[in-house]
Amino acid sequence: MTTAPPSTSGYIGRFAPTPSGPLHLGSLVAALGSWLDARAAGGHWLLRIEDIDPPRCPPDAVDWIRRQLEAFGLEWDGEILHQSSRGASYQAALDRLIADRMAYPCGCSRREWQQHGHYPGWCRHGPLHPGRAQAWRMRTDKGIQPVCWQDRLFGSQCLDPTTQGDVVIKRKDGLWAYQLAVVVDDAKQGITDVVRGFDLLDNTPWQRQLQVALNYPEPRYLHLPLILGEDGQKLSKQNLATAIPHDGTLARPVLHQALKLLGQAPSPTLRQADVSTQLAHALEHWSPLAMTAIPGRRPD
Ligand code: GLU
Repeated sequence: MTTAPPSTSGYIGRFAPTPSGPLHLGSLVAALGSWLDARAAGGHWLLRIEDIDPPRCPPDAVDWIRRQLEAFGLEWDGEILHQSSRGASYQAALDRLIADRMAYPCGCSRREWQQHGHYPGWCRHGPLHPGRAQAWRMRTDKGIQPVCWQDRLFGSQCLDPTTQGDVVIKRKDGLWAYQLAVVVDDAKQGITDVVRGFDLLDNTPWQRQLQVALNYPEPRYLHLPLILGEDGQKLSKQNLATAIPHDGTLARPVLHQALKLLGQAPSPTLRQADVSTQLAHALEHWSPLAMTAIPGRRPD
């Protein structure tokens, strides 16, 4: 695919899977929710492969994910961005945080601090164990706080990141950590709208602090509710792991189910309709607020 022309509506969304295996139902629903939101707004939808942890990413997973997205008619714009090729940009961001004294090296092990619930910032004023391999952590006490944002579905959120601890932004083994990579790449790709699973909502305060520290714009956030089965119960690992096909015909009923899991009301007659028909119908009726009717977990 070639570089896409600028989004005419200004909306730029993305799907950013970690390629630890093929998509499961939960990740498919996140992809579908962000695709619908972007396309309904006349926006772009980018695909970013978050392959910063190679041991967790089997070599054929990216191929699987691409074929699955294609089978579901979820076309992306432009080139795929691979985080494995972005180390220099992450390093530049880390250097800036170090220069601003927002990041510090830390060799403490989880075992040493876990009884505190979160890392208590012991190395803020110098490494406690200078002889060990060092991770880099962000100083939550120097970032904006409390962190408040208006989630498009969950409403007004205010969280104090110091209660979550100084998060690792570069790991001891030299690998980049999700929090830094996601923020640098959302800014690099000009993402205006982050649509992703509810499980990432409590990561947003760290990401907002990093965005402010790095002088990046603030995207809008829409967190999708946890996926529940038809009985209102959280889907089991087994259900979520249901193999998601990479064949257009087999994808039809799964797409129909994924739309229902997003709180949409696809007509039962469309269950076996081809994916483009189902998507066209879903786009016309896309209503993110319909998800408030899903009895999922809500933030306090
Ligand atoms: N790579 C993350 C995941 O697969 C998602 C990142 C995001 O959407 O912010 O869970």
